This record gives sequence, structure tokens and C-alpha cells, in this order.
Amino acid sequence: MFPTSYACTCCGERFRLAQRAAYYCFDFDGGPIDGPLPLARIFPVPVRPAWCKDCAEVCLVEDIAPVRAFENAFGAVRAGRAVEYPLETDQRDPEEAREDVAAYLRWRLTRRHPARALCCGRTNFQFLDVAQPLLKHAECDFGVIEPRYTIGSFNGSAPGTRSPANFPVHDGEGVLFGLLTWLHRDSGTWDFVPAAYPPFSED
Ligand SMILES: [Zn+2]
Ligand SMILES: [Zn+2]
Repeated sequence: MFPTSYACTCCGERFRLAQRAAYYCFDFDGGPIDGPLPLARIFPVPVRPAWCKDCAEVCLVEDIAPVRAFENAFGAVRAGRAVEYPLETDQRDPEEAREDVAAYLRWRLTRRHPARALCCGRTNFQFLDVAQPLLKHAECDFGVIEPRYTIGSFNGSAPGTRSPANFPVHDGEGVLFGLLTWLHRDSGTWDFVPAAYPPFSED
């Protein structure tokens, strides 16, 4: 489970994760998408919490394990076992789990760009889920940024049914190209709107 937020131990400034989920559309080729995105074309992005030094905020970073981890996961689901990475399969139909893990493996074999911070698509970050992150808060002499946990009561309806979910959706190289807005369970599709990383300013 991810921390609810992070806070500086010295000044108490809090940093919230702006997003909790993101998706890949591995076969997105940059062309216009004709109509809504079928659920079968999108896959959860495995993520780790990190500090983005460019955006100066807590963010999600793609968690891209070595090819070996994907091959092992594929071997496991083929043998009928559940895996947690690259996606959790214990609630899934075994056939579906095999197809999904195979899709991640195919993607991993062609992925070239290193893991991106999903706030801006850049790579100037430091992971926060390590034993001793000791990330110094830039404004403070002695402060380090630590996780904070809150037991939340999530009692809303499923994302994308009463209000737009706005889950980011990325291509296979991690480039943001849209936001998933409304989920249509009957047709198994997501509506989406085009989106892109914010332009980077050097100041
Ligand atoms: Zn501080
Ligand atoms: Zn960033």
C-alpha cells in the first residue's frame, strides 16, 4: 500500500501523491484513436513512489523490472500460479492472466526508454520506497521527507462512473497521450481525451 502522503520531518510541509493509478496502451502508435479505448487494450502501469526533482513533488514512477522478472512471471501464470508483478493476477481468469502477462513481456522486450516519472515524463527522480531514502527537503537544513499513512475511508463509487476518473494513459515508451474519463461497463470501454506532459521550463 502506498503512503497517503509524505512530509518533511523539519518543517512539516506535506506532499501528496497527485495520482494513484496510470495505464498503458501498449499498441498506441501515435495516430488518432478512433472512438473509445477497449478495456482489453489498457494495462495498469506498475509504479513506485518517488520524488521528482524537476517538479519538486511526490510522484509515481514506472516500475520496470528486468526482462527476467517478466519471463518468470509468464512461466508462473503458465503453470497456473498467481503473480503480483507486472500485474496482480489472483482475481483473474487463468487464460486472461496468461494473455495479460504475455502482453507485458512483449512490451518489456521492446521498451527502450528508462523509467519515467509520470508527472512530467522525465527521469530526474529518486525512489521513496527504499529502506533509507533520506531525501533532504531542499528548503530545510535538517528535514528529510518521510511517508505518512492514513487509514482512508474510500466510499465513493467506482472511478469513472459518477465523475470522470482522469486516469493517465501512456504509450509503450511511457509517453502520456490521454486521460481515461468515463468507464462504460456495458461495452467494456473507456472514453478518453487527449493529453500530454506539461512543457518543461528550464528555470
Ligand atoms: Zn522542510
Ligand atoms: Zn516531474
